[in-house]
Amino acid sequence: MCLFAVTDQAKALPRKIYKVLIIDGQNNHRNMADGSVMMKKYLEETGMFTADIATTPKKGENMESFKPDFSKYDVVLSNYNGDSWPEVTNVAFEKFVKNGGGLVVVHAADNAFPKWLAYNKMIGIGGWEGRNEKSGPYLYFDKEKGKMVKDTTKGLGGSHGNQHEFIVTTRDANHPIMKGLPTEWLHQKDELYDRLRGPAENVTVLATAYSPVEQRGSGRIEPMLMTLQYGKGKIFHTTLGHENYSQKCAGFITTLQRGTEWVATGKVTQQVPKDFPTKTKGSARP
Ligand code: ZN
Repeated sequence: MCLFAVTDQAKALPRKIYKVLIIDGQNNHRNMADGSVMMKKYLEETGMFTADIATTPKKGENMESFKPDFSKYDVVLSNYNGDSWPEVTNVAFEKFVKNGGGLVVVHAADNAFPKWLAYNKMIGIGGWEGRNEKSGPYLYFDKEKGKMVKDTTKGLGGSHGNQHEFIVTTRDANHPIMKGLPTEWLHQKDELYDRLRGPAENVTVLATAYSPVEQRGSGRIEPMLMTLQYGKGKIFHTTLGHENYSQKCAGFITTLQRGTEWVATGKVTQQVPKDFPTKTKGSARP
């Protein structure tokens, strides 16, 4: 009885709620606005976060008004792939992350800003928008060597084959984001980003997926979930989440929630949900 009483009391103590700023406004994905609303809900339903959405002007419009106050937030989540932000915003964003602000990068957000070096250091690897060997190496899991390798071979950065369901494999089971998750789990239909390239510095690949040639993929084992460090700031980069059906995967949701907690606090206290996918059974939320 006494133990229960203590537990109840502990639960009643006010917890710090972390503030997240989701940035969207331009994206080559038609579900961008849905995605922001879905991710806001996923984060807020943990009880650990509140999230605001900042929407930039539309493509080609004057960006000068886009100056969010990053200092009011613990984490920025980028759902943005579009025109450059004003220089003053870039400077403020770099300062935010360098000083310890958290960053979560989702899917096509790693296509953005090919020429902004600091941003590319934050995301580690990215794709499209003219990326090539000048952007940095490819990063993939070499089966023979049993580890992640960087490959400076010339070529385009960023591609994907047909959308399909695929297995995500843990590569760092001891990382707080991955602890307790199955080593392999079946992800819902998604684009499997491959051949991404970038500075690839201070990057830890948490999970990978094989990009099958039969699906017009790279034939390589590609990074899916990553963490990075930029200054004091922690970054979680998920290449998953192309469409609404991809973002409804309990695996996408859980790793997003846990990744966001980790960039905010360096820890993960969230339990693995009962509906987390297994190797053979996918799991989508309504
Ligand atoms: Zn996509």
